[in-house]
Amino acid sequence: SMRLSLLADRQKRELAEQELRKLHQAVEQSVSSLVITDAKGVTEYVNPRFELTTGFRQEEVIGKRYNKTRSGQTPKAVYEQMWRTIESGHIWEGELLNRKKSGELFWELVSISPVRNKQGEISNYIGMHHDITQRKAMEERLNFLAYHDELTGLPNRSLLTDRFTQLISHSQRHQKKVALLILDLNRFKLINDSLGHETGDRVLVEVGNRLTKLARTSDTVSRYGGAEFVILLTEIESANTVTDFARRISREISKPITVGDRLLHVSCTIGVALWPEDGKTLDNLLSNADAAMYQAKKRNGEKLQFFTEELNHQVQQRMEMENGLRNAVQGNELELYYQPQFNQQTNRITGMEALLRWHHPHRGLISPDRFIPLAEETGLILPIGEWVLETACLQLKQFQRNGYPDLVVAVNVSVRQLEGQDMTDTVHRIISKTAINPSSLEIEITESTMMEDPDRMIEALSALKKLGVRLALDDFGTGHSSLSYLQRFPFDKIKIDRAFIRNITRSEDDAAIAMTIGAMAKSLKLEVIAEGVETEEQMKFLKRCGCDNIQGYLISKPIPAMEFGHLLAQHQIQPFWLTQNPDPQLQ
Ligand code: C2E
Ligand code: MG
Ligand code: MG
Repeated sequence: SMRLSLLADRQKRELAEQELRKLHQAVEQSVSSLVITDAKGVTEYVNPRFELTTGFRQEEVIGKRYNKTRSGQTPKAVYEQMWRTIESGHIWEGELLNRKKSGELFWELVSISPVRNKQGEISNYIGMHHDITQRKAMEERLNFLAYHDELTGLPNRSLLTDRFTQLISHSQRHQKKVALLILDLNRFKLINDSLGHETGDRVLVEVGNRLTKLARTSDTVSRYGGAEFVILLTEIESANTVTDFARRISREISKPITVGDRLLHVSCTIGVALWPEDGKTLDNLLSNADAAMYQAKKRNGEKLQFFTEELNHQVQQRMEMENGLRNAVQGNELELYYQPQFNQQTNRITGMEALLRWHHPHRGLISPDRFIPLAEETGLILPIGEWVLETACLQLKQFQRNGYPDLVVAVNVSVRQLEGQDMTDTVHRIISKTAINPSSLEIEITESTMMEDPDRMIEALSALKKLGVRLALDDFGTGHSSLSYLQRFPFDKIKIDRAFIRNITRSEDDAAIAMTIGAMAKSLKLEVIAEGVETEEQMKFLKRCGCDNIQGYLISKPIPAMEFGHLLAQHQIQPFWLTQNPDPQLQ
C-alpha cells in the first residue's frame, strides 16, 4: 500500500507539474500582458507579451517597483483608489492611459487581483493588461461621427441642436438676438452630375472650410445635408449685421475653387430667420429660413432673403439706397449746399459750411442724415468725401477770386475717412490742385464719433494740422468729452451743438452749459461758434456770452452755391444783418 501511495504521489506530482507547465505556457503565450508583483508592488514577473507591447525588457522591470509605464496622464486619485481596492483584497479594474518605452501613449484595460498565501495574507498581485488603443480610437471616431458630418468634419444636425439649445439659454439671459442662415449652393447637382461625386465632395469640403474661416468662434457652421449648410450667428445687433455677414459669405464662396486642374465657380443662396421674432424653436427657424431661401432662389439678383417681411423691406431699401449711392457720384446727383457763418462783432460773413445733398432720381432731395451713415458703413464715404472736399475747395477758390479773399470753407469729414493713411495725402493733393490757402480750409469732425480711438484720432488730426488746415470740433456737447481732455487734440475751434442753442433762452441749464463752454473755450484759446441759431434772442444771448460766431437759419439756411454767391454780393453792398433787421440794440 505504501508503494501504491508513493505511485499515487508521483502521479499527482506529475499531474501538478503538467498543470503548471500548461499554465506557464498559457501565461507566456497570452495575448494579454501579465505582470506579477509582490505585496509592495515590486515586479517579480512579466510575460513576453508585456515586452512586446511596452518595449521594456524583463530585466528592466523585474526587481523594481512597477511604475515604468506610467504616463503621468492618469490622475493620482485613480492610483490611490486602485491601491485601496487591491490592498483590501478586491479585484480592481480600469482603463489607464500608459506610455511605452518609445514614449508612445496607449490605452490599457487593466485588471489586478490580489493573491493570498496560506496564512491568508496578500503575497502578490497579478495584473492583466489588455491594449485597447484601437478600440478607444474607434470609440472616439464614432463619438465624433455622431456629432459631425463625415465629409466636411463640420457639426451635424445633432450637434447643431445641442448648440442651439445652449445658445438660446445664453442669449435669453443676455437679451441678444440669434440669426439662423440656411445656405444652399446653387446648381450643385449640376457639378455632381457632370463632374462626378468626388468633385462635388471636394467643393463641399472647400465651402465648409471657407465658412468656418469667416465665422467667429461663438458661431456654429454645420452641414445640414446635400449642399445645404446651416449657420448660427450669435450676438446679432441688427439685420444689417447679418446682411454684411451674408454678403461676405457670398463673396467668399464665389471665389473660384480649384479641384485638380479645374477652376470651379459656385454661388449660393441664403435664407435668414431671426430668433426670437421669426421662431422660437430650431425647427421653426429652420423652416422659416428655408422658406426665405426658396423665395430668394426664385428671384434674380441678390440671393439673400430674410424671413420677416418688415426686415426684408428694410434690407431691400438699404440695398436700393446703396446701389443708388454708388452711382450718385458719377451720375452727378450730389450737390453741395453752403450755409454762412456770421460774426456778430464785425457783422460779416466769415465762412461757409459745405453740406451735402443728394438729388435722388426718384425720391427727390435726400438729407445727409439719411445717407451718410450708409456711406460710412459701405466705405462709399471715401470717394464721396473726396468729391466733397474737392468741390468745396474749388467753390471757395471761385468765391475768393470774386472778391471775398478771406472767406473760409468748413467741410465735414467722417472718422472713417480719417482712419486710412490716405486722408493727409488727399487733402494735400486737393489743396495744391485748387491752389487755396490751407488755412482757409476748416475740417469738421463730430465729437461723438471721435472718442472711439482717441490716440489714433490725435495722430490723424495732427498730420492734417501739419498741412496748415484748420480743425473744428462739430456737435460739441453731444459726446462726453471734457474740454480739458480736448486739449490733447489739435483743434482750433469748437461748434456748440444746436441741441443746447435751441433752449438757450428758455432753459437755465442749457444757458449755463453754453456759457460755460464759451468761457472754457476762451481760456483754452479755442474759437467758438454756435450752430442752429434760429432766433434773435438766441443771437443776443450768445453775444452776451462772448460767442460772436453764429451759424443757423436766422442768417440763412444752407443754399446752393449760386445763391450763396448772391448772398455774399448783397452782403457786401450793405452789411447783411443790418439790412434785414435794423435793430439798434444789435449794433
Ligand atoms: P452738421 O455738420 O452739424 O451740420 C449742421 C446741420 O444743421 C445741417 O444739417 C444744417 O442744415 C442744420 N442746420 C443749420 N442751421 C440750422 C438751424 O438754424 N436750425 C436747425 N434745426 N438746423 C440747422 P444737414 O445739412 O442735414 O446735415 C446733417 C449732418 O450731416 C451734418 O451735421 C453733418 O454731420 C453731416 N454731413 C453733411 N454733409 C456732410 C459731408 O459732406 N460729409 C460728411 N461726412 N458729413 C456730412
Ligand atoms: Mg458740420
Ligand atoms: Mg453740427
